[in-house]
Amino acid sequence: MNKRTFIKLFAAMIASPVISPLFAWAQSNKLKNWAGNLEYGTDRLYSANSLEQVRDYVKKQSKLKVLGTRHCFNNIADSMHNLLSLKSMDEVVALDPEAHTVTVTGGITYGQLCPYLHTRGFALHNLASLPHISIAGACSTATHGSGEKNGNLATAVSALEIVTAAGEVVKLSRQIDGEAFRGAVVGLGALGVITKITLDVQPTFMMRQYVYENLPLSEMRDHFDAIESSAYSVSLFTDWQKQRINEVWIKSRVEEGQAFEATSEFFGAKRAIRNLHPIAELSAENCTEQMGVPGPWYERLPHFRMGSPHLMISEIRAIAADNLWLSPCYEQPCVTIHFTWKQDWPAVRKLMPGIEKELAPFNARPHWGKLFTTSPADLKSIYKKIPEFVQLSKKYDPQGKFRNEFLNTNIFSS
Ligand SMILES: Cc1cc2nc3c(=O)[nH]c(=O)nc-3n(C[C@H](O)[C@H](O)[C@H](O)COP(=O)(O)OP(=O)(O)OC[C@H]3O[C@@H](n4cnc5c(N)ncnc54)[C@H](O)[C@@H]3O)c2cc1C
Repeated sequence: MNKRTFIKLFAAMIASPVISPLFAWAQSNKLKNWAGNLEYGTDRLYSANSLEQVRDYVKKQSKLKVLGTRHCFNNIADSMHNLLSLKSMDEVVALDPEAHTVTVTGGITYGQLCPYLHTRGFALHNLASLPHISIAGACSTATHGSGEKNGNLATAVSALEIVTAAGEVVKLSRQIDGEAFRGAVVGLGALGVITKITLDVQPTFMMRQYVYENLPLSEMRDHFDAIESSAYSVSLFTDWQKQRINEVWIKSRVEEGQAFEATSEFFGAKRAIRNLHPIAELSAENCTEQMGVPGPWYERLPHFRMGSPHLMISEIRAIAADNLWLSPCYEQPCVTIHFTWKQDWPAVRKLMPGIEKELAPFNARPHWGKLFTTSPADLKSIYKKIPEFVQLSKKYDPQGKFRNEFLNTNIFSS
């Protein structure tokens, strides 16, 4: 969705207060996703400690899915048969200061990698709202942060090592493999097990974060570009009430020429005088430091600290275009709208088609890791590269060993 259409849409949505609470937590002790809204189809979870163990396991099983840090809200990581965890494969394999890359194994999280990079003088270009997620899982679903010049997290990937359905080790790189690589990076877990992933790094940098409260909707409508481009990363939080954006989170680099001038007013919003949670009524103790206090990139780009529980409202962000086949930003910059739902899938499921209908004219693409009811036919019309992706997947997984209900329905149905 481009920015202009987004602004129109936003005005329409704010008029209809459809977002409301909901569900009871699943009661059983079965393995669940992080949010607790999904019970996985099996408890058969195997933990691999090495490439050889991954290869052996993959060769032995006829059906399996890799489980990352379980932060997807839908059944993309689910299996009725076998789950494979690479949690203990969480090492940094190589930091190459000349090539500006870091290579890690398939189970490491951003929270583990970021301090390592910073202490050695390096940084990643962006992060999601929290650091707890696995790098392989996040890139596989095109997870993103904000910043209209920042691509999603998968755009930092420059090489992958994948164990295919036959147990073979395949290496793909941006430099050598062109289109196949661009197809594989946002791979939805369909091509195989990512055992190593190489990311671009840059010299480390410091950031400051300011929060502004109560941005009038009219200001956002008239100055959306100026607001979004005012700093390295900008997030707008709203509960869709009272014709205003509740909070604007502005994250800027401290270098000269990139710093944000933190005036007391920002397009009619007032600079906060204390640290805030995206829901102002909640304690900010789990949120990253604000009020302009300088800190390293990885302690400012996420909204939440490592080890925090999370609850958010709607968040609006901007992302740069990229060339990764299944990225929502494939060949178009995007405005993203994130909804935090309360735990009542039946009620949410009823609301969703209405929201998706409103968004349809704007070519909106659902996030692969979140809840949606978009039909497979519609997905194919908005993710144009799905047919090529299907062919690529078949090359590495001809029998569908890594497919599950999510993939069969959304990607592989004819
Ligand atoms: C509190 C919270 C905040 C979030 N914030 C953001 C945000 O700011 N921005 C955003 O875009 N999204 C956000 N998300 C969504 C989430 O981060 C992504 O969907 C991401 O995929 C989660 O990674 P994971 O490892 O937990 O994934 P999982 O759910 O464990 O797996 C996701 C997919 O990756 C595959 N996979 C995982 N590891 C491997 C591997 N080694 N090899 C092959 N395939 C693998 C799985 O099979 C599955 O298909 C958030 C989610 C939560 C719960």
